[in-house]
Amino acid sequence: MNPTHTSTPTVHLVGAGPGDPELLTLKAARTIKEADVILCDDLVDPRVLEHASSSARVLYVGKRGGCPSTDQGFIHRVMIREATSGMKVVRLKGGDPFVFGRGGEEADALRAAGLQVEVVSGLTAGLAGPASIGLPTTDRRHTPGVALVTGHAKDGSEGPNWTALAQSGLTLVIYMGVARAEHIVQALIAGGLSPDTPAAIISAAHTLQQRQAVCVLSALVNTIAEQGLSSPALLVIGDVVRVAPMWGAQEDALQERLAVRL
Ligand code: SAH
Repeated sequence: MNPTHTSTPTVHLVGAGPGDPELLTLKAARTIKEADVILCDDLVDPRVLEHASSSARVLYVGKRGGCPSTDQGFIHRVMIREATSGMKVVRLKGGDPFVFGRGGEEADALRAAGLQVEVVSGLTAGLAGPASIGLPTTDRRHTPGVALVTGHAKDGSEGPNWTALAQSGLTLVIYMGVARAEHIVQALIAGGLSPDTPAAIISAAHTLQQRQAVCVLSALVNTIAEQGLSSPALLVIGDVVRVAPMWGAQEDALQERLAVRL
């Protein structure tokens, strides 16, 4: 352990990127290396932790297990306790800490406890995932922009306004959407989006387990099931999916099948 003695203790909220450790920022790699204590999400690729010092204490506080020890209040208390006692604390999150990472809530809690917060941005999966299959999330030939939205409905709420999103003309990049894909597809089509809108599913992007598929919106749920695509995954919906080389390959295969039947 190498306690640091600054006037105000600082906690570093660090983005680990989507997986591939080469997608870490230099600043993230350095901050991880200098850490005494690392509170690590379960989306963080294990290869990223190879940057940590062998004397660093790594605490896995992922939410997926759902055990009481990973309660948000517990995470806040550990960060505050360790930083106040002079440890260099890194809160390591998959992707970017401020994109669906509860980084804002953690920064609030830390500041309320009188600590300083340094945010080290990371590459969010919602942009790097589509890029990994040659899918640009914006492309002026197809869309004026992109919306990053959650597919997860908080505490039984309806979640995002799918009708407004269906009519927005934006590329939709949906995080945490696999479990609710059926609801999302129905809501978007009811909101006016064509069932033929191109869609992509990218699972475990930039990890050794990455898998992906493209299809039309109305086939999204079946494609996820047939190909066994599971969380963590992104749903990308919009005309821009046509730019991905996979889309062209799929259309060629379809044309070939039709030609064989004729
Ligand atoms: N802060 C993260 C997002 C955390 S929310 C970021 O900026 O990327 C968790 C969701 O992110 C997952 O359910 C999934 O939808 C998405 N996600 C995170 N990492 C991913 C990856 N490597 N591949 C595909 N989706 C990923």
